[in-house]
Amino acid sequence: MDEKLSFFKDGIRLDGRRPGELRPVKIEAGVLKRADGSCYIEMGGNKVIAAVYGPREVHPRHLQKVSRAIVRYRYNMASFSVEERKRPGPDRRSHEVSKVSREALEPVILTHYFPRSVIDIFVEILQADAGTRTAGINAASVALADAGVPMKCLVSSCAAGKVDGQIILDPMKDEDNFGEGDMPLAMTPDGEVTLLQADGRFTVEETREALETARKGCEQIYEIQKKALIDRYSRLEEPEEEGSNV
Ligand code: UDP
Repeated sequence: MDEKLSFFKDGIRLDGRRPGELRPVKIEAGVLKRADGSCYIEMGGNKVIAAVYGPREVHPRHLQKVSRAIVRYRYNMASFSVEERKRPGPDRRSHEVSKVSREALEPVILTHYFPRSVIDIFVEILQADAGTRTAGINAASVALADAGVPMKCLVSSCAAGKVDGQIILDPMKDEDNFGEGDMPLAMTPDGEVTLLQADGRFTVEETREALETARKGCEQIYEIQKKALIDRYSRLEEPEEEGSNV
């Protein structure tokens, strides 16, 4: 992008949002028949599916922990999910995203209820538009609840960014690629931070503002996650339709 081009026009972002505004978020729980729990999420241009299996027996067995379940998280970006075809399979980035996403969720899962077991979380990025790790964590959190995995609470995630020296909520692709910073956050409803990353440069004051901005985004996402689960359980009370996933 030409450096003289601005990310704002009359205070409004390139995609029509105000600085503190999220992209539209749509969440549906229980979309996969064969998973124990699942969730589909759209966060702006991101389209992500999460599937949860378990708690179940661990293979290979040497990974078993005698006092708790282990949690595995596999983040995978489909080769068709990005503009420039991504080489299929794991890479450094997907390992990093899987690790930090697992760590974002593990603190709320009551793993000690299930010794020698594993809870497997698969996150598939079908379409990427910046913020895929946050979308994945939001979907995985709902999928875990949908699977009936005992948890202290849900985890909600979104990023703040910095463009033209200004802090914004939930950067989209151009803001992420050509902006000055990106700060993904995940937290519980009572404010415990389970993921905090940052690239780019933020002053102390900007860091405070970015954290506060991302926190407000997480609070909005939490409400949408809760609604998706309530909708899912209302559906369960209705008679099952032919060909339904429920
Ligand atoms: N991206 C891409 N190809 C890749 C990896 C990433 O086009 O191989 C894009 C994709 O849109 C992604 C964005 O770059 O959402 C930002 O990636 P980042 O590593 O910051 O993670 P994210 O913001 O998606 O969590």
